[in-house]
Order: sequence, then C-alpha cells, then structure tokens
Amino acid sequence: MNTQIQRIFNKSFRRQSLVLLAWLLLGVLSLSACAQVAEPARSVDAATPTENEAEVATEPTLNPDLLPEFVASQPGAGVQRSIDIHTIIPDRPRMDIIKYLVQRGDTLFGIAERFGIEPETVLWGNWDTLEQDPHTLQPGQELFIPPVDGVLYQWEAGKSLNEVADGFHASLQEIIEWPGNDIPIGTDLSNPDIEPGQLVLIPNGRRDPPSWQMVSITRSNPAAASILGPGYCGSIYTGLIGDGFFDWPTSSTWQSGYGYVPGLHEAIDLGGSIGNAIYASDDGVVVYSGWNNYGYGYTIVIDHGTGWQTLYAHLDTINYGCGDSVAQGTVIGGMGSTGNSSGAHLHFEMRSDIYGRVNPYNFLP
Ligand SMILES: [Zn+2]
Repeated sequence: MNTQIQRIFNKSFRRQSLVLLAWLLLGVLSLSACAQVAEPARSVDAATPTENEAEVATEPTLNPDLLPEFVASQPGAGVQRSIDIHTIIPDRPRMDIIKYLVQRGDTLFGIAERFGIEPETVLWGNWDTLEQDPHTLQPGQELFIPPVDGVLYQWEAGKSLNEVADGFHASLQEIIEWPGNDIPIGTDLSNPDIEPGQLVLIPNGRRDPPSWQMVSITRSNPAAASILGPGYCGSIYTGLIGDGFFDWPTSSTWQSGYGYVPGLHEAIDLGGSIGNAIYASDDGVVVYSGWNNYGYGYTIVIDHGTGWQTLYAHLDTINYGCGDSVAQGTVIGGMGSTGNSSGAHLHFEMRSDIYGRVNPYNFLP
C-alpha cells in the first residue's frame, strides 16, 4: 500500500516537476523574446537626440562681440550667485550704434569687415563726417558703426516717417520695428515724436549717390559740371574722337587704395609718385580742367566723342585746358595728391553713356 502510494506520489511529482520545467523554459524564452523586441525600439530612440545631446546643441557659444563690456564692481558688493553653466545666451544681434576712432592705416573696407557690415553702411552712417566721399577718411575721425546694414539718419524736424523711408528706399515697417529706434507703437507716422538730431537707423536703407557724382561731362554740355568746381568748361567743343580702345593712364597698373565698388568708389586708384606722367587714355577733348570742390583736387575730364569719358583726379599739374584736343598717350598732367588724398595716386574713372561708371580694369589692356 505504502509503496503504491509512494509510486503514485512519485509519478505525480515527476509530472509536476516536468510542468514546472516547461513553465520555466517558456518564461526564459518569452523573456529573451521580449529582449529581442525591445532591441530595435531602443535604436529608434537613438535616432532622436537624447537629453544630453540636446544640451550640447544649445550650449551657448561665447562670441565676444555679443558680450556686454566688463564693468568691474567692488569686491564682495552685491549678492553673490553661483555660476550656472547651463545659462543659454540667445543669439541676439547687436542693437546699439558703436563709436569708432579711425586709426592710422584704416580703410573704409577694413573697418566694415571688422564690424561685419558693408563699406557703404560705414559711409552712409557718417555722411556728414565723410563728406559723402570715402577718400576723406582719416585718423582721429570718430565714426558711427551701425549694428546692421543700412543708413543712419540724423532726424530733422518736420520730417514724416514715410518721407524718410521713401528717401532711403527702405521699408517703413522695418524702421518702426527696429528696437534700437525706440519708436512706440501707435506713433503718428506724419509727425513722430523723435527729437531732431536723434540718430534713426534705417535698416537696409540706401543713400542715392551725391548729385555731383551723377554729372556726366560731355563736349555737348560741359557746363553741366559747373557745380563741381572752377575747373568746368563753358562752351561746346569739337575735336578729336577716340577709337574706343583705352590705354593705361599712368605707368603703374597696381592699385594703391580703393578699388571699384559700385555706388561707393566707381573708380580705381593707381599708385605712383608725385609728378609721374598721366596719359590720355584715348583720343578726345578736355571738357573739365582745374580744381574740383568735391575732394578730387586738380582734375581733368576728357570726352572721347564715342559716348565715353575718362576722369583723372588728385593731379599735381595740369598740362591742358578746356577745349584742347589730346591724342591717346599725350601727357596731360602729373600725378599728385591734391583734394581728399592721403598720398600720391591717380583716381581714374571711366564713364559710358550706356554702362554708366564702369570698372576701368574691365576696359584697360
Ligand atoms: Zn579714388
């Protein structure tokens, strides 16, 4: 009996342990299956940035231009605060207008590059100081450096915001919305509450070239240049006509100062020494000969009768006067540094009825 019970017990125990074993096996299998399923899920997660990676991406870059000027405070003064390395500095552009003292060797282009703005912006931001001419830049001048490209306008009494926006080919909205201008919402556009003399930034504004730069001096109307200075010619002339092929106006072909920049310096400056020969670039008639009031100093303009004129500025000496015919290669004067010039060089311009003022490098051999 006992043995029978024992046998039955043993049999059921064996069956139970088998079932148990099966359960265990199943459990292990399902676990490993779970793990296998979980695997690809994790790799999907990896495609999106983890928290740590997000932190790296937004870590502030310390651009010294964006940092406020360091002001030393008294030691121990004020509330001490532990450094929070997770502070995010927003990538805000500069809003304020900086003052810059011109150093020896500075050029408009160098200054513009240093502050990340266009050279025109430096000129247009200092229209009065620079007398509308990049050549007037000199050490010791104090220039305004606008934070973005455009025009700085010293507000004049009686102006409307629409007028100013139109005058500088700019957007009224952009002027109003520029935070540095502090123009309150709901301002009366025709009579804004802006103090005369206050600097207003005209983002993306442009100044028209000065009127003296627009003058074309031809043999049919040389007196149009009367606004330029005493060198203008008063009669209509006939004379030599060029062939449209130009020669270098001086022996040196290297650039000594400014290159051609549309709207800013529509000429090339060629280096050399005082007295170097200046040649007529093509046959033509002298239609301006003498002093120029706008920084060019002693200047000669030749009309070539082909729709082209050439201009030679900062001369030291002048060999030909109004109405004289000059052949290509004639020595018309000597190189100088008269007018707004910081050293001997020739400021050479080429103007065409069709193309306007062109880059002479494109038309010289
Ligand atoms: Zn020049």
